[in-house]
Amino acid sequence: MKTIVAATRNKHKIEEIGAITSKFGMTIMSRDEAGVPPVEIPETGKTFEENSYIKAFEIMKLCGQITVADDSGLVVDCLDGAPGVYSARFAGFEGLWPEDAAGIDTNDKDNNAKLINLIKDVPYEDRTARFVSVITMVYPDGKTIVARGTVEGHLVLEERGDGGFGYDPLFVPEGYDRTFGELSQQIKNSISHRANALKALYDKLENNIE
Ligand code: IMP
Repeated sequence: MKTIVAATRNKHKIEEIGAITSKFGMTIMSRDEAGVPPVEIPETGKTFEENSYIKAFEIMKLCGQITVADDSGLVVDCLDGAPGVYSARFAGFEGLWPEDAAGIDTNDKDNNAKLINLIKDVPYEDRTARFVSVITMVYPDGKTIVARGTVEGHLVLEERGDGGFGYDPLFVPEGYDRTFGELSQQIKNSISHRANALKALYDKLENNIE
């Protein structure tokens, strides 16, 4: 059995990705289990693909094994795609985009308050947005597999529901009238951007498309 190393420390994500890779004879382990030193990898990319590649590549260099990383965020159409790759750090800077690409994560409440304030005068039908997730696998020989998943929806102007995390209480997925904060985890996990990226990863591994 091949081992693959996860660049994330998030146990839930490691389990989700591991459930897919195990079908292809690969067991997953965390970067800590693989003995990777606890270095922080600055997410300096301008796209989800860049950031997920940076994380996978840097950890692969440190452990010499196949490495998988993910990057995700919320893309809001009426804000030119912000907060995008800066979703976790949105409240930490003024305006739509930071001056310095590498910043620190801010909390969900502040991020949501900033988002509401920026879209409060936009009519519901124009408050379209999508969550994006990109999962990248980098092999020691340089081979790379990239899988992307999205979920489309609309944004509401007050937080609804206390399930999920991040921007979930503001996001109503297409075909539903409740937010990800109100919908069950089971529903979210079956239609989410991450679920769709995992399906794409499965298909790519099955077809061995690079
Ligand atoms: P990460 O790259 O998965 O750590 O996500 C970056 C940021 O995007 C998070 O801190 C959230 O603000 C946002 N985000 C990503 N996925 C979700 C989700 O499923 N629900 C809500 N917010 C999310």
